[in-house]
Amino acid sequence: MDGYGDSTRTVNAVGAHAVPGEPVAPVPFPASAYHLSPDEAEPMDTYGRASNPTWRQLESALAELEGAASALAFGSGMGAISAALRVLAKPGTTLVVPADGYYQVRRYAAEYLKPLGVTVVEAAAAQMCEAAGHADVVLAETPVNPTLDVVDLHRLATICRSRRSTLIVDNTAATPLGLQPLSLGADLVVASATKSLAGHSDLLAGYVAGSHPGLMAAIERDRLLAGPVLGVFEAWLVLRSLGSAGLRIDRQCRNAHAVALMLRDHPAVRSVRYPGLPQDPSHAVAVEQMRRFGGLVSVELADAGAVHRLVERSALLVAATSFGGIHTCVDRRARWGDPVPDGFARISLGIEDTDDIVADIERALT
Ligand SMILES: *Cc1c(COP(=O)(O)O)cnc(C)c1O
Repeated sequence: MDGYGDSTRTVNAVGAHAVPGEPVAPVPFPASAYHLSPDEAEPMDTYGRASNPTWRQLESALAELEGAASALAFGSGMGAISAALRVLAKPGTTLVVPADGYYQVRRYAAEYLKPLGVTVVEAAAAQMCEAAGHADVVLAETPVNPTLDVVDLHRLATICRSRRSTLIVDNTAATPLGLQPLSLGADLVVASATKSLAGHSDLLAGYVAGSHPGLMAAIERDRLLAGPVLGVFEAWLVLRSLGSAGLRIDRQCRNAHAVALMLRDHPAVRSVRYPGLPQDPSHAVAVEQMRRFGGLVSVELADAGAVHRLVERSALLVAATSFGGIHTCVDRRARWGDPVPDGFARISLGIEDTDDIVADIERALT
């Protein structure tokens, strides 16, 4: 689908192959076991944890969107990330993980990989390139969740290539519609599809995408043996959701931009981060590498009480962790131990009408 816009690509990724008499929409195939051919060498689906036709539809759609040769579906983002790390971060290697990114990735590295003999280095987005100079495997997240600093992926990939180290990029926040890490030199994309791709706050899913056949085969083997698999119905729902991902993500980005502009000038706001704001410290890098600036805005209010009052006074905001759904959600990140001030909140913009959500937040802040 080269040369087409993102909504055209997401719609067409969802199985619109014209076969007369076949359904237009994707179809789930719920099955754990498959009829076996007497020709034992014939490639086929045998057992649901190894491969199945519903995953294949989803995986080819995700690979297409990420510009990857292949993709692997997982039961959650953490399922995908931990599988990639188990394969790449072997005992004796040095792994860099984001100090300011998704906190459970840090916990996995510290609690599971470190005792196995992996040297785990935590680096904030701004220190990623420096830390990569001493690493075998680098996991970068951009924009980093929740502070929304943007990592210069082209520069980071150049450093990793010169050291022959492996660069993994967590593309959850930007989505493949906002950022194509593989085209900027990353070796592997990992992501939670729970967020904007599935987009309805009703399921968990994750994926790995890449173009190194040996690496993808090793991760597939890990999925088979460790078993963090995605259910068939969830795979089908992600696939179904991908059809509207272009529309939803466009609206989320537009709402985020409008809310960020309003917050920037609001007296109750100490600071706001959005890579799309020209005065944002990450704006220059974001313009270079991102196609959309995303649906997340980070804001600092006076204290924890101010964040709770914002939600109470609002008619539209939902207090919830996670992001990328159709509702606008607010999450006070210090609640989860993120290294941010008490009044720091991540706002995940939904798909409400832009004027409504801007007016609602503006009113609730005063
Ligand atoms: C949510 C999230 C994850 C984990 O995904 P799950 O689907 O919840 O397992 C990983 N990375 C980032 C950046 C996330 O936001």
